[in-house]
Amino acid sequence: MRRIDLHTHSTASDGTFTPRELIKLARFYRLAGLALCDHDTVEGTDEFQKAGQEFDFLAISGVEISLEFLGITHLLGLNLGQTAGSLAVLSNLQKLRVDRNQKIFDKLRELEFELSWDRIAEISGGGQVGRPHFARAMVEKGYCHSPQEAFDRYLGKKGLAYVDKVRPRPAEAIRFLRQANFAPVIAHPVSINLASEKWPETLAEWKAAGLVGVEAYHPDHSPKATIFFRNLAKRFDLVVTAGSDFHGANKKVPLSWVKDHSPLGVSVLESLRAKLTSS
Ligand code: AMP
Ligand code: FE
Ligand code: FE
Ligand code: ZN
Repeated sequence: MRRIDLHTHSTASDGTFTPRELIKLARFYRLAGLALCDHDTVEGTDEFQKAGQEFDFLAISGVEISLEFLGITHLLGLNLGQTAGSLAVLSNLQKLRVDRNQKIFDKLRELEFELSWDRIAEISGGGQVGRPHFARAMVEKGYCHSPQEAFDRYLGKKGLAYVDKVRPRPAEAIRFLRQANFAPVIAHPVSINLASEKWPETLAEWKAAGLVGVEAYHPDHSPKATIFFRNLAKRFDLVVTAGSDFHGANKKVPLSWVKDHSPLGVSVLESLRAKLTSS
């Protein structure tokens, strides 16, 4: 059975492949389909859909939204073919991002790093700029040995140039995705800083808001974590999904990840669609 990957990034956010290149690569690996889930933007989805048609490949438009919650809480929104409504709220998130990038840039300047804004934009590949692009610019200038060091010292939550961003709360984001006909799926739940005994009540709350799936298969999940979230999804009648969270050269995981780590094929899309129509 061919596997499906419901979480990837392109140059529209912090991936290093264009949406079209992603489709070509997914086809090369003989995947069953691919979802494009760039951070807080759907700007890559037109090119992604066109490439899907060009190469006769199942291309699912999506988004990954950062939420105001414990630790790193990300929500995937997947458009499964229904007419997509407006995600106008994203343009607001993008404006906030532009302000945040300016603040990060200023803080780095105050720390006497001489970075060129044009170069950072160039590194981003023309899409929305995020911290990984700052990290690469810093490595390029010799200020850090690796992007990870740039995050640990400067860009990460405890870093000297960290700037928080304004994010929607989980229930709010789940609702606006549903209104726009995007299936809300909680991304890499292991990154959420929530004790295991708190998970049932939290998921119940998000399900009531309209959550339909849980990304139990993700490169950051240990086998134990995968089983934990699979069982939890089952208990709350939520759909289990798999994603590589592919970022190209910005992360080590290959796009072929789902082939070796996930049992899921296209039928997962039917399960997600059924949830959208039944709840
Ligand atoms: P941004 O969207 O600008 O907040 O950047 C988020 C991206 O930065 C994530 O998708 C990760 O790829 C990367 N990232 C965030 N925190 C870290 C960290 N502590 N170490 C390495 N990469 C990180
Ligand atoms: Fe990312
Ligand atoms: Fe994420
Ligand atoms: Zn992601």
